[in-house]
Amino acid sequence: MNKGNKLYEGKAKIIYETKDKNLVIQHFKDDATAFNNLKKAKIEGKGVLNNRISEYILNNLSQSGIKTHLIKRLNMREQLIKKAEIFPIEFIVRNIATGSLTKRLGIPDGTNLEKPLLEYCYKNDELKDPLISKEHILSFGWATENELRYIDRSTLRINDILTGMFRAIGIKLVDFKIEYGKAWNEESGKKEIVLADEISPDTCRLWDAKTEKKLDKDRFRKDLGNIIQAYQEVARRLGIMPEETNISEVNFGKTIPIKFKKK
Ligand code: UDP
Repeated sequence: MNKGNKLYEGKAKIIYETKDKNLVIQHFKDDATAFNNLKKAKIEGKGVLNNRISEYILNNLSQSGIKTHLIKRLNMREQLIKKAEIFPIEFIVRNIATGSLTKRLGIPDGTNLEKPLLEYCYKNDELKDPLISKEHILSFGWATENELRYIDRSTLRINDILTGMFRAIGIKLVDFKIEYGKAWNEESGKKEIVLADEISPDTCRLWDAKTEKKLDKDRFRKDLGNIIQAYQEVARRLGIMPEETNISEVNFGKTIPIKFKKK
């Protein structure tokens, strides 16, 4: 599948057109950002790892009946995906309190939540992705009641599947963010809701079950170092990144700060 024009460039990915109007190519960059773009760096090899990890996770979800945008991984950094009209909402699931939840509500870091907590944020960089309620989503028409009911159920199901998948490899799924879109379904001849974007250590908090060592983007946010080693550890435990992968062409593990401004 040949790459066409660039359609969109985000913080960690680029989307390219293909000859098929319903399909696009998703390219994983090495760029990392945190704190609404205040902290930026290039972490060499991150894109390669996230491409693999997200492919593995979405394929697993798909086997459990979750509809996703992923068609197939094309190469080290790219996936062929369905073009989706993305809902402007981040769906966040929390199993253990940490990050913005602890800051916002004063809940002690590491508190196990009795049941998964679902939060919505409005996807808007300028407004710093504010937390919103279901009523905001319905009131402003960002999704319909039926769409939201479907997405909520799917999101909690994804949490169950992923929690089990990570528990099996000695990792606690602390929280994660997912996105959904509407994409064309060839068979039904209609648009349908699909899980979009990516699921990777960039979008999840993953703690080693025994030591609680962070194996995710918090290593970057909190300057803990060994970011790539942590992402590689996740890939290794999932049983991916086999020998066939030629990682020698990327300079693994090097972090190049682009800009760092204190808040
Ligand atoms: N998250 C994400 N993208 C965002 C905001 C959050 O992938 O733009 C993920 C984040 O990695 C974590 C979860 O969503 O796994 C909850 O994040 P939180 O609200 O605690 O965000 P923080 O402000 O601490 O990054």
